[in-house]
Amino acid sequence: MESKQYELPALPYDFKALEPYISAEQLQIHHDKHHQAYVDGANALLKKFDARKSGEEFDVKAAAKELSFNVGGYILHDLFWENMGPATENGGEPKGKIAEYIMKDFGSFEKFKKEFTQAAASTEGSGWAALTVCKNTNRIFINQIEKHNVNAIPNQRIMLVLDVWEHAYYLDYKNVRPEYIAAFWNIVNWDKVNERLEAWLAIE
Ligand code: MN
Repeated sequence: MESKQYELPALPYDFKALEPYISAEQLQIHHDKHHQAYVDGANALLKKFDARKSGEEFDVKAAAKELSFNVGGYILHDLFWENMGPATENGGEPKGKIAEYIMKDFGSFEKFKKEFTQAAASTEGSGWAALTVCKNTNRIFINQIEKHNVNAIPNQRIMLVLDVWEHAYYLDYKNVRPEYIAAFWNIVNWDKVNERLEAWLAIE
């Protein structure tokens, strides 16, 4: 049995693919520098854990916190890249199963969009807005994740996320987060959201 390290996933499109909503420069620095930093942070912890067998000690509480932060960042970015795509084929109204859930729990896409936008806009400091599904209740929820890990709910699987850390939009939108959030709706990959939803619902 062999362990592996965390690896930076390749973007599913080229750096220009999300223009004009997210510039190539913004996307490249976000993926190559910021996402990479969480991968590196998580792998540095793995090194510490591996060294325990040769007697190295570390601060267990601090390591647990760092692990949650870095792995949260690593996973959320991966989900984020995949739930976007070029505006020519994405964005607009949701379709398929996720559209059925949105109608059931929110009544309309407009209400969902408004609430998700509010969650993203009001995240204090750095964080994420996330659309999740709870199988205990067969409901969808909008979560507001602070940093990469605070307010995440274990049994609520993430279907769609939006990164509202300043590093996600500052080059393109400066401090105007609402403009970035409004732009996001043009590049949401609803097919991917439906793929995640169907896969999650298929698990017993
Ligand atoms: Mn980010």
